[in-house]
Amino acid sequence: MAKSYLGKLVLHWCDECKTPVLGRKCLCGAETRQVQVTPPGDIRPAFQADIEHINNLYRLYFGVDLIPDNHIAVLNKIPDKDRMEEIVMGGAVVCAIRYLPDNQRWEVLPRIHSALYSRPARGFVIADDGAIESIKSGSSLLAPGLVDIHPDVMEGDEVLILTRDGECIGAGRARVGAKEAVNMDRGQIVRTRKAGQGICIPGESTWEDAIESNSTILTNVETEAVNFVRSIKSKNPDLFASVSYSGGKDSLATLLVVQKAIGKVPLIFSDTGLEFPETYKNIEDVVAGYDLEIIRTGAGDAFWETMEREGPPSVDARWCCSVCKLNPVKELIKENWGECLSFIGQRKYESLARMKSPRVWRNFKVQVQLSASPIQHWTALHVFLYLFQEKAPYNELYERRIDRIGCFMCPSSDIATFETIKIDYPELWKEWEQKLVDYREKNELPESWALNFEWRKRGETDDTSSYS
Ligand SMILES: [Zn+2]
Repeated sequence: MAKSYLGKLVLHWCDECKTPVLGRKCLCGAETRQVQVTPPGDIRPAFQADIEHINNLYRLYFGVDLIPDNHIAVLNKIPDKDRMEEIVMGGAVVCAIRYLPDNQRWEVLPRIHSALYSRPARGFVIADDGAIESIKSGSSLLAPGLVDIHPDVMEGDEVLILTRDGECIGAGRARVGAKEAVNMDRGQIVRTRKAGQGICIPGESTWEDAIESNSTILTNVETEAVNFVRSIKSKNPDLFASVSYSGGKDSLATLLVVQKAIGKVPLIFSDTGLEFPETYKNIEDVVAGYDLEIIRTGAGDAFWETMEREGPPSVDARWCCSVCKLNPVKELIKENWGECLSFIGQRKYESLARMKSPRVWRNFKVQVQLSASPIQHWTALHVFLYLFQEKAPYNELYERRIDRIGCFMCPSSDIATFETIKIDYPELWKEWEQKLVDYREKNELPESWALNFEWRKRGETDDTSSYS
């Protein structure tokens, strides 16, 4: 897929501290090294559940864990059919994982650096010394260069190519299974991929180390954001100020910055009625923890009423945003203050629409709200490092492999996430599937419509607003 830059690629690595650094210099004084990730590069930490998920997948392929204890891993979501992520350790991409919706499974795409963390116990071939140079330069492994192949390797498997000494020199897809390979005199055994960009230097570190490495950088982005908030507030002294709070990390970081800039302001929470239980809990925690006023609004049953009429929201027809968020917020503002200033946790690395959005804007559907994004230029890693540093109570969903917080059935979610939700929240999902079945039966749609996520693909266009 085409590369899509939404901002600079900011991920660097300090080889002294073994930490990710969001700039050219680490607090320790060392120059950092840029990590070659695929754009847009909205990198984020791998939480324990992410690490377990990745290690489970990697073990299926290679018989060993990829991510050892006490090592920092960073994830980078990249454009793909459904969901694909690069895994960064030691300052390089060491592996990628990709969800294949048609096969309903994850695929592991290793890079050569993965073998620096654990020598594969399966899923490997051993190349002859004479073949090393050509494989390193990107050529395929041919039959005469094969010394050994793990007996379980099947045609089409992802494999690592090792030397006799155990050094990994390539990665790619087996063109033949092990049984066939050992009897071949010529022909391709493994088709290699470009799979070894950059340098990888493994080493132990903690997120506390990473916070320290980034502390000057975090202070700088915080100061910039605080000054931005003060400037907007001083230009609009008479507008009622608030923070739009969704329960997600971006609105929490925004809240912290706004508090430092202008003190306590109320939160506005628009309850869609389709939130995860963790989100309601997070809102309670934040309101209590920072002793804040919260102004709740919501759409009541509007979601279900609209769904009866128009069908479920889809990728192209996301009427839910207007119905459940924008309209209630507009009414709230009109009734209470006439007009208001809202700080919103919108970031350019999230999407093209948000990259193009100015930092201060008025949504054409909510003209009474002047919106401003203090963290427009932050990556997800800036946000999380800042929240870790401030010991802020972020939503527990991030530790359950849900990285975008919103309605649980958001049609913009990827299928990989839906599969996670189905397993972790069976009741929530069952209820939703029943609603889909009801709608399908009433409207005489084919059976597959409700089952295979077809409901989220429907074609009409309406609302693709960028409101968080
Ligand atoms: Zn350092």
